[in-house]
Amino acid sequence: MLTSMIAFSSVTKEYRGRPVVDNVSFTINPGEFVCVTGPSGAGKSTIIHLLIRAELPTAGTIEVDGADIAKLPVPILQMYRRRTGVVFQDYKLLNDRTVAENVAFALEVCGEPDAVIAKRVKEVLTELKIADQADAFPQELSGGEKTRAALARALVHEPNILIADEPTGNIDPDQSREILELLKAVNARGTTVILATHDKLVVDALQVRVLRLEQGKLVHDAVGGYVANHDEKKPAHAHSVHVEKEGGHHVVHHEKKEGHVEHAAGADSPEDHAKHHTSGRVKPLSI
Ligand code: ADP
Repeated sequence: MLTSMIAFSSVTKEYRGRPVVDNVSFTINPGEFVCVTGPSGAGKSTIIHLLIRAELPTAGTIEVDGADIAKLPVPILQMYRRRTGVVFQDYKLLNDRTVAENVAFALEVCGEPDAVIAKRVKEVLTELKIADQADAFPQELSGGEKTRAALARALVHEPNILIADEPTGNIDPDQSREILELLKAVNARGTTVILATHDKLVVDALQVRVLRLEQGKLVHDAVGGYVANHDEKKPAHAHSVHVEKEGGHHVVHHEKKEGHVEHAAGADSPEDHAKHHTSGRVKPLSI
């Protein structure tokens, strides 16, 4: 049997006696691409904080390769953190360092030689299409560039696991699509990718395994898009998603491979839309 890389067993996290992650169990195998989704406040970021041991569970266990991360000795915990790349919602870039310096810093703390660091930083900035901004400071970057810089820093030490918390939260659909393509390419090389997003369009575009949280509870675990999760009978296989504005509503067109087109109104609520899209007409988000 395949060893689970990550296993949450009956994990609960309470803040002031209130469970924000409530008795959640799941496993993630090496090489999987998993979306953790659900509305704002559902507990997605808390799952990520638990995963990187920024927080400890109130009850239950989180195992990585069979070891309880709450009990890892410090050197092993450091190794675990080194093989885990994280893109935080607010990027956490160091404002007094350039993009290249931010990315290099992740290797400097591991004690890599300067020549190795310089070569690897150049490679990863080129791959993330941000080499032109190597000498720019974070405050000079657009949202998409900040996301790519944070991704470069997360990937520079070639982690086994990449965790990204709402990486498309502050960027337009074109930039979103590019970031999703990058995440897919990283996953295709064998890296486990865990993406937290409340954005239904992102979930639909990816068509990967979806863990959906509501009020801290895991309410769904299946492969497919956000809409497909509400209808078990719908096939989870590839289809592209286009969103058009029609009569003040956002209408999602699902184009299946055989050319059949379905319509599902309201997949992106006006509130979500106002928060996450800047233009009136939303461009197709299909990858
Ligand atoms: P999501 O990422 O799905 O938006 P979060 O995991 O950030 O949700 O938050 C889930 C709930 O836990 C929210 O109600 C939030 O206010 C609460 N919460 C998160 N972190 C803390 C904290 N450090 N102290 C108290 N409450 C918290």
